[in-house]
Amino acid sequence: MRFPITSLIRHASWLGVFLLLIFQQGDYDAAAVNRGLAPYIVRGRQVETHFAAYRARLRIYYDNLTEHLRRAAPDLVAELEPFAALPRGYQVLPRIVPNEPSTGRAVTQVVAYSWPWTDRLIRTELRELARAESELWRSRSADAPSRRLILQRLAANYRAQRQRHQILDAHVQYNRFWQAAIAANRSAYDRATALQFKVLEYQKITGQLELLSTGAPAQTGAALGRGAISANLRRREASLAAHIDQALYRLDTPAFVRMINTSDGWVVRVPLFTDVIDQPFISEVKRIIENAWQVTHNGKTYRVELDVCLISPEALYGAGTRSEAGQPVDLERHLNRFPPDGAILTTGAATTHVRGRAIVLGPHPLTARVLAHEFGHILGFRDRYIRGYKNLGESGFRVLELVTDPQDIMGATDGGRVLPGHFAELIGQKEKARLIPASKFTPKQSTRTET
Ligand SMILES: [Zn+2]
Repeated sequence: MRFPITSLIRHASWLGVFLLLIFQQGDYDAAAVNRGLAPYIVRGRQVETHFAAYRARLRIYYDNLTEHLRRAAPDLVAELEPFAALPRGYQVLPRIVPNEPSTGRAVTQVVAYSWPWTDRLIRTELRELARAESELWRSRSADAPSRRLILQRLAANYRAQRQRHQILDAHVQYNRFWQAAIAANRSAYDRATALQFKVLEYQKITGQLELLSTGAPAQTGAALGRGAISANLRRREASLAAHIDQALYRLDTPAFVRMINTSDGWVVRVPLFTDVIDQPFISEVKRIIENAWQVTHNGKTYRVELDVCLISPEALYGAGTRSEAGQPVDLERHLNRFPPDGAILTTGAATTHVRGRAIVLGPHPLTARVLAHEFGHILGFRDRYIRGYKNLGESGFRVLELVTDPQDIMGATDGGRVLPGHFAELIGQKEKARLIPASKFTPKQSTRTET
């Protein structure tokens, strides 16, 4: 299942966060409280109650398992990761983890999230947990060597259980967040849903046109000649392309991003201010972004170069008033303290996301691809997936994500990459229709020195 949990709610709008705070309050399961509430809230509360029960049971299992290990295999205790939630706040950095294996998807795909689906995942996980509990119980009567083997297996299993727990947690957060966002702005999400259909139609037409051009027999309207069919399709294709282009492929590059034409290609230079005091972490981020945002095409090299400027928290806040490590951060004010003419890398988010010209880091593990995707936003690229929905009545909404081009890092953080087309767009070949997927968009030679 495609589920980049570290990046799930990275596109959080602040309106959405506000709504989230409102809906988090209140007692669960009280019919009187639920009366008159929207179905997505009521169903959401049921699933969250279910999730909380599962979480509590996993916690008890973790304590029991730890206790058993302590008695029978103390050397394995260290293998269990603690159950506690990740700390968050100022200067709290995510661990950078290996990229998820590429899904190898080549075609457009719709991924769906909903409360019923999340609930089903929780039920599956509860069955797994029951199996583990009974195995732990049985281990007590096994002889010492078998007992150790069982405990070893359960400890390894627990790591996977804990990971799935995080995925479920992300499902819950995702649904809570995005279903509220949909409810708050139905018309915008109606338009997005219509856009999903347009993308699917566009791709179907492109396929039909390809068939026509290869001389395959036309399937529709024997009365119409091949030429007329193809002209009609092309008109529709162009009209759809204009819509999609406008929605997904608009580029909004800030003035501090400079494009420099060198003898062997182009360098995109970006000043980056950061108050992160962990310098090895900053070097790692710089290396990851510069590695990801680098392509060679037709003998030319296109790459990003970050000019990192360290600003100490003392310099940012003045002596005595700076945020302490682990403290919550008022992001709006915090970001305003940075110099205006550059990108920002800082800490203090609940989940890593881009806010204006800033990448704000949260505590959850982050892959290099997600980091490269977030940096794409700094360069002015939009998300190239579309979030729409289906109304499920009593069960709330089904949130539908459509990835238009799985090879494009701005559409898919699980398998996409930076492509020559991204640089072509940055360099400014705007006369070319941008709908052409970045994977098929070839940069043209240009003689401009700086834009
Ligand atoms: Zn994004």
